[in-house]
Amino acid sequence: MNETPTARDWNALSDDQFRGIAAEFFGTRVPEHLRFLSRRPRWAEVREWYLTLSRHGWLVPAWPVEHGGMGLSQSKVLVYMEELERSGAPRVMDQGLMNLGPVLIARGTEDQRQRFLPRILSGEHLWCQGYSEPNAGSDLASLRTEARIEGDQFVINGQKIWTSVAFDANHMFALVRTDKTVKKQAGISFVMIDMRQPGVTVRPIRNIAGHEELCEVFLDDVRAPVSNLVGELNGGWQVAKTLLGFERIWSGSPRQSTLALLRLERLARASGRMSDPVFRDRYTQVTMDVLDAASAYERFAQIMRTGGSFGVEVSMLKIWATETCQRVTELMVEAAGDLGALSGEVDVEGESMDILYPFLDCRAFTIYGGSSQVQRNILVKNVLDLPS
Ligand SMILES: Cc1cc2nc3c(=O)[nH]c(=O)nc-3n(C[C@H](O)[C@H](O)[C@H](O)COP(=O)(O)OP(=O)(O)OC[C@H]3O[C@@H](n4cnc5c(N)ncnc54)[C@H](O)[C@@H]3O)c2cc1C
Repeated sequence: MNETPTARDWNALSDDQFRGIAAEFFGTRVPEHLRFLSRRPRWAEVREWYLTLSRHGWLVPAWPVEHGGMGLSQSKVLVYMEELERSGAPRVMDQGLMNLGPVLIARGTEDQRQRFLPRILSGEHLWCQGYSEPNAGSDLASLRTEARIEGDQFVINGQKIWTSVAFDANHMFALVRTDKTVKKQAGISFVMIDMRQPGVTVRPIRNIAGHEELCEVFLDDVRAPVSNLVGELNGGWQVAKTLLGFERIWSGSPRQSTLALLRLERLARASGRMSDPVFRDRYTQVTMDVLDAASAYERFAQIMRTGGSFGVEVSMLKIWATETCQRVTELMVEAAGDLGALSGEVDVEGESMDILYPFLDCRAFTIYGGSSQVQRNILVKNVLDLPS
């Protein structure tokens, strides 16, 4: 691609035309060695790819053009994400791009937008999300990390946990308690913290697959200027909720289960299991489940494409997509027999594949972004109108 059309050009294209351009862009530019990684890469590995996206103006599809984004319409953002995923592009440090940036654009001050947005685009500021704490995950409003105001600074004490890639981050946006005397949700503030200071300790946690992606973050007398408060003091709960909507549909995308099904098919053909009628029966069942999940996703995506909105029934999508993915990977491990117990790449009749990692990896899908149980509670209460 020799020229970079303006955002107005992007939205003037049909979704199909834009899909072709996005497919070509990602298809030709994603470095081969970073495609379809079976782990989350470190910043040092993906830095160049991040900067390539940034240089071409392709780093943030949804941000408005005046802030350095592509200014894409909702439907084109979906196309962008689908093509990015299809290309096997690695996940970059995306909390600044996907979460903090949109929050600052919607709820930040002009000074905050000028101080932080360009540094996200340049890769100078790498953000992590400090919401969860021990005993405050699903029940996030119970968080206890405390921030008191001293002069023009917050002084922060407490502990965050399950903070993804905090070891590569140099900034954290966090929910902190700024008033203990009011209703739980009413005493929380959204504060941006520079992690490059004494008092910040990051300790990685090894996950079930043996990878270190999650961390504990300890905050001891850590300081942040009051000008790093986003939204009102004690208004952090509303700020954090700014992000819902798009995130919900994306977490219900069938992309992971579709990919898992392709892997299962490859394994079944290589190992000869496809000729086993019992296996074929189960394979057909999970295939139908994936197709169902894809068609449910398409229904919600179509609502978004036409500028519509939907309610909490979108919780159904996340349950469906993530649990389907788990079923597909369970069948894969089962179908692999003894090889299913080995970690790393294994040889199946001359074909190299990682069987165990996708199974282990997708255990987390039904936990983050609102666990399946919590999503079911939401559906029971708000959609089915059953007593809770
Ligand atoms: C891979 C991964 C990455 C993550 N990254 C981040 C991050 O970057 N930043 C961050 O802040 N957090 C992150 N998290 C944390 C995530 O948000 C929490 O794990 C999640 O909110 C669940 O909280 P918890 O782990 O404390 O479990 P709990 O809330 O203690 O839940 C334990 C179990 O009880 C069930 N349960 C809880 N409440 C109810 C209820 N009311 N009704 C029925 N069942 C219930 C849950 O479904 C779950 O099965 C990440 C988690 C994972 C797995």
